[in-house]
Amino acid sequence: MSGDGTPLPEIVEVRGEIYIPLAAFRELNRRREAEGEPAFANPRNAAAGSVRQLDSNITASRPLNIYAYGVGAVSGYEFSSEWDVLQMLKRWGFRVDERNALCRDAAECLDFYHALAEQREQLPYEVDGVVFKVNELAMQQQMGLRTRSPRWAVAYKFPAHRETTRIKDIVVSVGRMGALTPVALLEPVEIGGATVQRASLHNQDEIDRKDIRIGDTVVIERAGDVIPYVVKAIAEVRTGDERKFQLPATCPVCGTEVLRVEGEPVVHCPNIDCPAQLQGRIVHFASRRAMDIEGLGEKLVAQLVESGLVEHLPDIYDLTVQQLASLERMAEKSAQNLLDALEASKQTTLTRFLYSLSIAHVGEYVARLLAEHFGTLLAVAEAGYDELVAIKGIGPEIAASVHNFFGEERNRQIISDLLDRGIRIEQAKTAAATLAGKTVVFTGALHGFTREEAAEQVERRGGRVTSSVSSRTDYVVVGENPGSKYQQARELGITTIDEEEFRELLGNS
Ligand SMILES: [Zn+2]
Repeated sequence: MSGDGTPLPEIVEVRGEIYIPLAAFRELNRRREAEGEPAFANPRNAAAGSVRQLDSNITASRPLNIYAYGVGAVSGYEFSSEWDVLQMLKRWGFRVDERNALCRDAAECLDFYHALAEQREQLPYEVDGVVFKVNELAMQQQMGLRTRSPRWAVAYKFPAHRETTRIKDIVVSVGRMGALTPVALLEPVEIGGATVQRASLHNQDEIDRKDIRIGDTVVIERAGDVIPYVVKAIAEVRTGDERKFQLPATCPVCGTEVLRVEGEPVVHCPNIDCPAQLQGRIVHFASRRAMDIEGLGEKLVAQLVESGLVEHLPDIYDLTVQQLASLERMAEKSAQNLLDALEASKQTTLTRFLYSLSIAHVGEYVARLLAEHFGTLLAVAEAGYDELVAIKGIGPEIAASVHNFFGEERNRQIISDLLDRGIRIEQAKTAAATLAGKTVVFTGALHGFTREEAAEQVERRGGRVTSSVSSRTDYVVVGENPGSKYQQARELGITTIDEEEFRELLGNS
C-alpha cells in the first residue's frame, strides 16, 4: 500500500529525471569552495557527474532529486493514458512535477509551451524545453516507433541561452576561501534577457582543455541565475593575435606564492591574512561547526571589515561594545551578546580550531583525523609531509595543503595572535573504544560525513556497521530522507538517533 492507501501493482518500473535544484546547486558549490574543491559548471554537469560516481557514498552526499515521468515494465495495473501514469505515480508516492497539463490540441500545447517559457527564469531548476506526448496509450501503440525514438512523443526545446562574443581579457579573482579563478572579460552580450560581461573559466585545466585564449571568439551559455560559462572557443575564426593565458604563480591580491598541488585543478592563495579572503575566512571561522560564535554572520563581518574595525582575523577578539554599538543596526544588547559569544568561543577543541582555519581540503572530518592523530596543535603544525600522508584518510593533496599552510610564516603569526587573545585548545582525546561491541545501522544522508567516513568513525571506536536492521542492532542513525530501515527500527523498538546525537555518541559533538 502506498501513502494514501492506493494498492501498489506487483511490479512497476519507474522512469524519471534526476536533477539538482538551483538553490541546492549554489549551496553545493559554496561548500565545495569552502573545502577547496573545484566548483561545478552547471547543475546538469553536477547531477550527471554525481550519478556516475563509482562510490555511491559520494552520490548519496549530493543534493540529487528526481521527478518521475513514466513507467517501463508494469504488472498488476493497467494504465490507460500518460495522464493516468502521472496521476498514479503521484498516488503511489513518487515525486511528479506539477508543471504538466493535459492539452486537447496543438494550440493548447503551444500555449503551455509559451507559458512555461515565461516562467523559465523563475523555476527552481533548469529546464531546456517541453516534451509533448500522445496521451492515449492505445494510440501510442498504433503510432509505433522510429529507429531511435517514438512517433508519439516530441521534444520542443526553448531557445538555447547561448551567444557568441569575444574575450577581451582574462583576469584572476581570489575567492572568499582563497581559490584563484580565471575570469573572462567579455564584449558585452545579451543572453536570455541579461547582459553578460564576465564568465568564469574555473581553472587552468579547463582553459587548457578547451584551448581558450585571450581574444578568442567564444560560445557563452547562461541558464537561470547560474554564473555564465564559456562552452568553447571558435578556433576557425582566429586571426593569430590571440594569446594563451597562464595563471600567475603568486596571489594577485597579496603576493603570496600560490599553492598548486600536482593533479589538482584549483590553485589557492594559502595566506590566512590575504585581504581578498578576510571576510570569507572570518565567516567560516565563526560558523557553528568551527568556533561557533553566534551572531558573527556574513552581514556583520562585512560591516566590520568595511569599517576597518577588523583588518586581520584575530582583531575580532579585540572588539569593544562601543565599537560594535557604533555600527548600523547594532544595539548595545546585541553588541554585548556578541562579545559574550566571542569570549565563550575561546574555550575550544583541536578539531574545531583546525577546521576553523579554512585550510584547503581540511573539512570537519579531516580536522578530526588530524586532531585524533596528533593530539596537539603544535604537533600538527610541526608534522612533515611524509608523516601526514601516512595517516589513513589523508591523501597527498590534503597532506601538501596542511604542510604548506603551517609552513607559511603569516599563518603561524595569525595562529599565535589568536592564542595570545586567550584561545584555549583542549587536548584532543584519541578515539576511545566507546562503541565497543555495538552495532550501528545508517539510513538517509548525513551532512558532516559520507557513509564511509561515518562507518570508519564507528569502527575506530570498536563498533560494527551493518546494512540491515535486526533485533541485535543497537543504534539506527537517521539522516535526511531515511529509507525503510527507519520504519523497521521503530517497529523493532531500536534506538534511533539523528546526526547531532551520533556526533555526541562519537564523543566529539
Ligand atoms: Zn592572497
